[in-house]
Amino acid sequence: MPAPVSIQKYESSPDSLQKAVELCHGFKNLKPSDRVVIKPNLVAWDDQFPIAPFGVYTTTRLVEDLIICLKDFGCSDITIGEGSVVIKKGIGTAEAFAGLGYTALEKKYGVRLVDFNKSNSKIFTYQGDRELLIAEEAVACDFFIDFPVLKTHGQTKVSLGMKNLKGCLKQKSKRQCHNPESGLEFSFSHVAEFVKPALTIIDGIYALEKGALHFGKAYRKDLIIASTDILAADLAGAKLMGYDGSDIAHFQYYAERTGKSFDLGDYEIKGEKIDDHIQPLKWDWTWTEDNTGPGIFAKLGVTGVALPKYDDTLCSGCSPIANMSNILALSAFKGKPLPKVEILNGKKMQARPGYDKTVLLGNCIIRANKDNPNINQAVKVKGCPPAENDVVEAMKAAGLDVNILAYHGYMKQQAEKYQDKEGYDPALFTA
Ligand code: SF4
Repeated sequence: MPAPVSIQKYESSPDSLQKAVELCHGFKNLKPSDRVVIKPNLVAWDDQFPIAPFGVYTTTRLVEDLIICLKDFGCSDITIGEGSVVIKKGIGTAEAFAGLGYTALEKKYGVRLVDFNKSNSKIFTYQGDRELLIAEEAVACDFFIDFPVLKTHGQTKVSLGMKNLKGCLKQKSKRQCHNPESGLEFSFSHVAEFVKPALTIIDGIYALEKGALHFGKAYRKDLIIASTDILAADLAGAKLMGYDGSDIAHFQYYAERTGKSFDLGDYEIKGEKIDDHIQPLKWDWTWTEDNTGPGIFAKLGVTGVALPKYDDTLCSGCSPIANMSNILALSAFKGKPLPKVEILNGKKMQARPGYDKTVLLGNCIIRANKDNPNINQAVKVKGCPPAENDVVEAMKAAGLDVNILAYHGYMKQQAEKYQDKEGYDPALFTA
């Protein structure tokens, strides 16, 4: 008999979370003496252009509610662990913990904060000899609670419990998941089998369309989804955003290996009726027909330059750089065709013929194109990921008159887009 999944309206703290946990019998295998690890989604931190937190980060409010429920149950050994992506040098998990109120939770409740990027790791293998290095705390605890956010994602369609576990991987393995051979979704779908979450709670106070980081659009939903079965929770979360199990490759990989069903109809749903809360959310970004840039390039008539669409080999470290190059290219457009420059990212794109210069963003794409005969002149931006300034200089060297201030203006606008809007309450991200 598959484990049930609960869908609960968020009305008050900590009662709503407690009800969600009770409805799905979330603590049935928990003992007060257990070493508990909570893994929220604190994807990355940006001190220069603060990421609007809604739908991006697990709300600190619900994490605090969970700590209160665990303490009431008698648990005292509670760790919060995360391995945030470092998109700006020296800015990572510790800054996310501080910025989102977790250091206050540490003081208030005596919980431990662990940066999985700095933990010791254990090695697990999949597909023969492919290795995943997982933070020790995530696999050595007694009761692991996976606490993602309800969101869609430009590479994996949805980012829920299974995707959130990617944050337990060491940096090297996070990057390895984006390898072109086995593919992103197949690779990270294995993490759940090694970490074995005892409980998955999806924070649906906000749902994010086209996450991650700065650019998604958050909607207030006030829902909490919970199950002791990660797949059941993820299937319900996906359905709430308009996706079936058959739409999501990583659900199917996991279901195939574990013998579980990826049909939500085979699971019992308790609490709210799912049909009352479905709001289809888009996941994909549109590109021009000839794959030369985001859809807006066609609308504005941008020609000459080409920025092919990112693929699933682009890892989180390089993803802000890829976005930045799109916005910088737009800043160079003054109504006339731009120089014939192609700009590539990720690990497998191949330069196409017909361009005078090819800008290669990052060590991976430099390697992937080292013998490409289509390249007339390569402008290489080394780094893993490359530094922002180097990207700006490379685009200028390729003949694009880019304006970094236009990029800064755009990022500032993204950081402030929910300011003073009803329902977007920054207090949910403080303790
Ligand atoms: S260069 Fe970029 S795509 Fe390659 S591993 Fe580093 S961050 Fe990832």
